[in-house]
Amino acid sequence: MVPKFDVRKANAEKKYAGELSFSFEAEPSLVEIPFVSISSPVDAKLHYEILEDDSVEITGSLAFTLKGSCSRCLKETQQRVSGQVEGYFVLNGTDGEDYSYSNGVIDFGEFLRDSVIFLMPARLVCNETCVAPDYKED
Ligand SMILES: [Zn+2]
Repeated sequence: MVPKFDVRKANAEKKYAGELSFSFEAEPSLVEIPFVSISSPVDAKLHYEILEDDSVEITGSLAFTLKGSCSRCLKETQQRVSGQVEGYFVLNGTDGEDYSYSNGVIDFGEFLRDSVIFLMPARLVCNETCVAPDYKED
């Protein structure tokens, strides 16, 4: 299930900044590398900050494991992918640049999808020196 963040509740409790830690299942369609899939839940460690105008700044990191065929030599391999992500959520926002939320609750779905795609490498390689198999011409 994609986590939500209750901004109203955090405001009511005067928790204007804090940490959000959770794991979620990424949609398989986010991986465009052939014969590769995400083999672990995505770990999210996020920091939030609620600003004066109720917009919310999210920064933090995501980590997940890719598993499948090496894009070069086709050997089974896996790789841990991690990196920094950030998002800016505007209450009832209309500007397409930022994420929007309404009714006091942020749904992280779109942000997390975008973040996984942002961190996704173009290919999975078992190591830097592996080579493509020779195709003998006869
Ligand atoms: Zn390889």
